[in-house]
Order: sequence, then C-alpha cells, then structure tokens
Amino acid sequence: MGHFLDNTFTIISGPCSFEGQDQIREHLDCLETSKYLRAGIFKLRTNKDSFQGLRARGIEQMSALKVDHNFCLVSEVVSMQSLEALKDVVDIIQVGTRNMYNYELLKELSKQSKPVILKRGLSATIDEWVQAAQYINSDENQVILCERGIRSFESKYRNTLDLNAVSYLKQKTNYKVLVDPSHGTGNTFMIEDLSKASMAIGADGILVEAHFNPAQALSDAHQALTLPQLRGLIQNLNSLAPHFNKKVVF
Ligand code: PEP
Ligand code: MN
Repeated sequence: MGHFLDNTFTIISGPCSFEGQDQIREHLDCLETSKYLRAGIFKLRTNKDSFQGLRARGIEQMSALKVDHNFCLVSEVVSMQSLEALKDVVDIIQVGTRNMYNYELLKELSKQSKPVILKRGLSATIDEWVQAAQYINSDENQVILCERGIRSFESKYRNTLDLNAVSYLKQKTNYKVLVDPSHGTGNTFMIEDLSKASMAIGADGILVEAHFNPAQALSDAHQALTLPQLRGLIQNLNSLAPHFNKKVVF
C-alpha cells in the first residue's frame, strides 16, 4: 500500500494525544472509512507536569485497537527507547519539532523502513530542515516534510504557518510536503482556511488535530476540531480537490 502518491491530498487526522480506546473508536466511527489516524502515545511537553502520553499502556491499548480496526497509525517517536517501543504498532513515524535537531535519533531512523514525517524545527531554516531529512533518508524509507509553523513576532496565533516553505520545497526538492494547520495556527477557527490554502499551494496533505470532546482533551484542547468540524473540513477539501488536480484520501 503506497502512501503520499502523486496527485493525492492525504488528510491525517486524530487527537493530539491518545487518551483511550473510546476516543479512537469515536474518531473512526465519525470518519467511517478513515485510513490514516494520528495519535501521540509519547508526548513532549513544555511543562513537565503536563500529560506526557499513555506511553507503555497506550501501546498496549493501541495494539488491541488495531486488531479490530484497519487504520494506518501516525505517531511520534521522542527518543530511541520510544522508537523501539512503538515499532510494532506505528505505521508512519512522526518526528516532532523539538527533535528535528536530534541527529542521533535521525540516524537511527535511517536504519528502518517505515515512512517518517519530519516536522520543521521551531525556528529551523529550510536548509537545516532538509539536511535533517537527509540524515533519515535511505534507499528503504521515505521522508515526508511537515510544515507546522515557525516562531515569529506575531502573537495572535500560536505559530506563523510558513506556506512559502511549501511552495519552495515543492519546486526545489522532490520531498512530499504536508502541512499541520493545527500547530501552525493554534486556533480552530483558522484551520479550514489554512488547509485550503495548503492544497492550493501544492501541499501533499495535512496533519490535523481533532477530538471527540475538545474541552476534555489532555493536550492542545484549544486547537482541536470537533468531529463534525473535521467531517466538514474533509468534505470541503474533497470539493476543492479537482480544481487542483488532486484526490483526497483520509
Ligand atoms: C503534535 O503533532 O502533537 C506535536 C507535538 O507537534 P509539534 O512537534 O509540531 O509541536
Ligand atoms: Mn498537538
């Protein structure tokens, strides 16, 4: 099964953090035929007292879910140990913004064959980001870049989504490029606009956070779409896709 094929726009949705099996069942039920699910089992949090993910317990619960449901799991590795722990449950590995410069971890990822979504470092230049991707890239794996917003002087939104980078990378490199409008804006009310803009500028898809009950989410509650909002977003991107010669997969 190939991922991120030419002319497809891949929507990877799910909660910021995996919090339990019911949460994922609700998500999958809402999307019916969903193929891609994002869910953080290990979380890197700025505050040490914030929820750090279900970790070992999460792996057990997620493995059980995968027996009954057919989906492709995107989840973040935060360390060498978490890579080892996740290896039997994760289908597409995510490297978060805080680990883009963790070259020892990137080297380890080059030794395995699963696709790796490499998020842009918080203040990383395109050159630094592409060089980080080169650490991971091997003949056996695929690296997909993910623009997730950069630090700027603007404080109205969590980060400044750099869609310039998408245009640049699509024209100057062969990497597939995703956009994360959730961390890129931090505001649910901006996510649809930035998702449409991502499609228009040539991105290969989006990584977007949604939760069956955003008010109760254990991380990134303020930027989580509700499940009906997510369905609406997918429908609207689906309508837009033919104008850009794309087919939506989710
Ligand atoms: C996430 O996807 O939940 C996440 C932590 O993203 P980032 O590494 O871009 O902050
Ligand atoms: Mn998040």
